[in-house]
Amino acid sequence: MEGSDKAYDVIVVGVGGIGSAAVYHLSQRGLDVLGLDQYSIPNSVGSSHGDSRLIRLTNYEDPEYVPHVRRSIDLWESLEEEYGEQLLFRTGTVDAGPEGSETVEGAITACEEYDLPYEHLSAAELSEQFPGFRLPSDFEAVHQPDGGFIHPTRCVQAHVAGAHDNGAETHAHETVVEWDTTDDGVRVQTDLTTYEADQLVLTAGAWKDVFPERVAEKLTPWRVIVGGFQPESPEKFTPDALPVFSINEGDQGYYGAPAAGTSGFKFGLVDNLEDVADPSDFDPRPTEKEKERLRTVLYDKAREYFPEGARSTKRLKTCMVTHTPDQDFIVDSLPDRPQVKVGAGFSGKGFKFSGLMGELLADLVTEEASKVDLEIFEMDRF
Ligand SMILES: Cc1cc2nc3c(=O)[nH]c(=O)nc-3n(C[C@H](O)[C@H](O)[C@H](O)COP(=O)(O)OP(=O)(O)OC[C@H]3O[C@@H](n4cnc5c(N)ncnc54)[C@H](O)[C@@H]3O)c2cc1C
Repeated sequence: MEGSDKAYDVIVVGVGGIGSAAVYHLSQRGLDVLGLDQYSIPNSVGSSHGDSRLIRLTNYEDPEYVPHVRRSIDLWESLEEEYGEQLLFRTGTVDAGPEGSETVEGAITACEEYDLPYEHLSAAELSEQFPGFRLPSDFEAVHQPDGGFIHPTRCVQAHVAGAHDNGAETHAHETVVEWDTTDDGVRVQTDLTTYEADQLVLTAGAWKDVFPERVAEKLTPWRVIVGGFQPESPEKFTPDALPVFSINEGDQGYYGAPAAGTSGFKFGLVDNLEDVADPSDFDPRPTEKEKERLRTVLYDKAREYFPEGARSTKRLKTCMVTHTPDQDFIVDSLPDRPQVKVGAGFSGKGFKFSGLMGELLADLVTEEASKVDLEIFEMDRF
């Protein structure tokens, strides 16, 4: 049996977006690491798969995250160089909404505060520069040239390939059923065997039962959908022609990305269809209600903002995102059991930061100073 009963420096539970980055960064520091996942690595059951995840420097919701995005971009660029395939697509980003909306004001604040290049455009000016957009005339937008999207499946693959090169071991289809701390480390029981390690990193995404109660009770997995459309004018919806975007109208948020890979023109809405009670029972097949939502809500709105972007439906993807009450992440050591580190609650915006989260978890394990502020991620804030 693979590595049976072997002792490691660190075991990482969950090799999705964040766990794969943790395995990579820990192995880069010369540690003997085992990453365990209940499914394939990568898999399309968890939250880290598909063709695109937005990476915006204009973090209008919370400008405090701008240094984290900057560090993330540096890490994606160096991983890209090491892996030899494009991971980051710098399409630029557009944040838009009605005049004076929090989205536009927040994006401008982030740009001003952190000295980011940007353009403040009317709806007409936006369409002139990027003809795919046709926003209502009372909308305005902030265009920032440095963001774009990253390719999630490829990023997980790149982290895992790098970790393997560094000597790390990963096991697919091995489920952690129990873990506990010991006098000098941790013991991890899987459905196949038992392992020991000095430290444990928990990055189990929506599977909140893996986390200790005080973390699990702060996590709510949502079921979300995202649409993919066949554009009427494909040349206006390529990564060269269309920035990724985030549009807020009233309380409703929409986001999307140019056509890439198999997804078509991506258009999603930020919405919880239902809480996911048990992620292991998550059925990714769209329900009748979700199919109807693709044909009405998503299609209609995509056509309203991008009349040539949605000739017909192409794809409907369901997925889980795991939220915390304040939408900030939990990246911390357990106060009562410091040999256990937690990376959880990435609240629908965590993939862009996955490389950085891997680095921060490795900093916690090796007790090194982090390059960005960790305070917003501490679990004591609750
Ligand atoms: C539709 C959609 C759009 C999104 N858009 C964006 C975006 O534009 N920008 C952005 O930054 N983020 C975005 N996100 C969010 C981002 O994708 C997530 O925050 C991120 O992928 C979370 O990664 P994770 O590692 O925490 O979870 P996962 O990738 O789900 O990894 C958890 C892993 O743990 C494993 N696991 C669980 N329990 C066990 C066990 N007992 N034993 C072994 N293994 C176990 C699972 O199998 C899984 O592989 C989006 C998410 C979705 C679904």
